Amino acid sequence: MSKKEEKESGIVHPIIVPTSYNVGTINFYLLEVAGSLSLIDAGVNTDECWNKLNETLHKAGISISDIDRILLTHHHPDHTGVVNRLLDTSAIPVYAHKEAIPRLKKDENYLRRRINFFSQLYEEMGCGQAGKDEVEKLRAWPPSHDYLPIHSAIEPLNEGDSIAGLQVMETPGHSPDRLVFYNEKTKELFSGDVLIQNISSNAMVEPDRQNRRLLTLVQYIRSLKRCLQWDIDIMYTGHREAITDHHALIAERLSKIERKAQKIITSLRQGTKTANELAIHFYQHKYQSEFPLVISEIIGYLDYLEAGSRVYKEQKNGIWRYYSV
Ligand SMILES: [Zn+2]
Repeated sequence: MSKKEEKESGIVHPIIVPTSYNVGTINFYLLEVAGSLSLIDAGVNTDECWNKLNETLHKAGISISDIDRILLTHHHPDHTGVVNRLLDTSAIPVYAHKEAIPRLKKDENYLRRRINFFSQLYEEMGCGQAGKDEVEKLRAWPPSHDYLPIHSAIEPLNEGDSIAGLQVMETPGHSPDRLVFYNEKTKELFSGDVLIQNISSNAMVEPDRQNRRLLTLVQYIRSLKRCLQWDIDIMYTGHREAITDHHALIAERLSKIERKAQKIITSLRQGTKTANELAIHFYQHKYQSEFPLVISEIIGYLDYLEAGSRVYKEQKNGIWRYYSV
């Protein structure tokens, strides 16, 4: 590729910050296309991420005020961390999915709705004290400065939009506001958390705008299958190494999901259970320390199985009990 072609199709400057957590690394990207500069995602709100970003900019001979826009793949704090630090330095337009906006702005109506949603959900799923404790944590939110609202206005992006030489596509499941950005010329996909090497991206339970539960695992499977239809040479991921063979990895993930679904059916065949009982059964060790994650995982699977008519539920004394078909 000539220098000119390279400039037109894009130069990617990955910013990779190692962590001691299971996610391995936090990755975000500076992308130069045809003289325009986008930052895709913004790491966590730590000095380490901030310094690494500045180092990368310095090496590329770019300053913060040269960044034309910030594009966010979703609202999670490990993807939006230094947005406010950037905005404090320069007025850079921020773009995200419309569902990310109330989440990033910490909209009070949204937060209130979310508390009501989880309070009712945990009760109906038979979570008892663990559920009540988690709702108390939600009420005390935000827990730290990492979660401060984004200072500026956020421009909404939709499926089918095109921005800075990238196609915008929705891939909900891991979160309701998941976007990926595709460079058709270079066959590069900036994929956030759709697919991560060696670890599965949780499809977290979330309410929609009417406070109905989204079928997040069903959405996630659909999003993975969508990725199979695109011509991708490399997926620049939000964590760990970039992915060059997404077909194999997606096939592996889909069969892993099916195996887990089968395990839940087997457990229900041995006797009806609540979502909470299943969470304790499958995650004894993590149940206490990672309650919202494990209950979310089980509910996601139960919704998926119910949508496929493989399990059904009945409410007794206000609590859902699940049965295998
Ligand atoms: Zn995420």
